[in-house]
Amino acid sequence: MLAWYRAMGVDAAVGEEALDWAQRSDGPGASFKTAAALTSAPLVQPQRGLPSAPPPPRSAPSIASGARVPPQPTAQRQYSPQLPNDAQMAARRLAEGAKSLDELVHLLESFDGCGLKTTAMNLCVFRGATTAKLMIVGEAPGREEDIAGKPFVGPPGQLLDKMLIAAGFSPDSLHITNAVYWRPPGNRAPTPEETEVCRPFLERQISLVNPDVILVLGGTAAKAVLSVTEGITRVRGRWQSINIGGREVRAIASLHPAYLLRTPVAKRQAWGDLLAIRAALQ
Ligand code: URA
Repeated sequence: MLAWYRAMGVDAAVGEEALDWAQRSDGPGASFKTAAALTSAPLVQPQRGLPSAPPPPRSAPSIASGARVPPQPTAQRQYSPQLPNDAQMAARRLAEGAKSLDELVHLLESFDGCGLKTTAMNLCVFRGATTAKLMIVGEAPGREEDIAGKPFVGPPGQLLDKMLIAAGFSPDSLHITNAVYWRPPGNRAPTPEETEVCRPFLERQISLVNPDVILVLGGTAAKAVLSVTEGITRVRGRWQSINIGGREVRAIASLHPAYLLRTPVAKRQAWGDLLAIRAALQ
């Protein structure tokens, strides 16, 4: 069991007893009607020895450990492949009604359409200013961020702050957030479904913060926010325009500070991107 926990990315104990969300009527996603519940159509049949999990996304999520889903005896467990769409529509309806960042945070606190909430300790929305000329969007909270409930407070965040200060920005005057609001287990990359269900909230957050420039950090965030398909080494440093709530906002992708910690030689490129942003904001 411990080996399986490790393979699944568990690195912190949060309760005395395991919860079987599938047996509870109040688990995450319980408020979303599945297509099967609406039509009484048969749900996806579980493969032998496997739970009837949703089909893999078209581009398979990268699970850091590379571990396969182990067999589980709960054959009655049923998930509908329609669930993300229902959750995305609910997310859009909710997010569009948020009149302030505080309201957006409250809505996210009660939103249970993103499965990451099940395993995360804390909701992690933003740090810094509530309106800002520069908004930074990272990938997902990590361990330190999950504990603190704030984005970019661990070693990559500390490097980011140092670089921002050196480039003439005060981190407190910026708005710093992520493409998803809960930590993916084991720090794996968020899946396309997870970024999609958070996206309506992120779009509303961008409208409320009203930035002149958005800096997107890393390949996963670039795919989620800029809808690009190329890798980060190709898209970084290239200005784009994204339409948020009817307004065009300039955006640029750069290398993720976690990558810079592992590959210090790449700091030169990231530094060039920060200087380009500074020039664009002057
Ligand atoms: N990496 C991210 O992308 N975001 C954080 O908040 C921390 C690390």
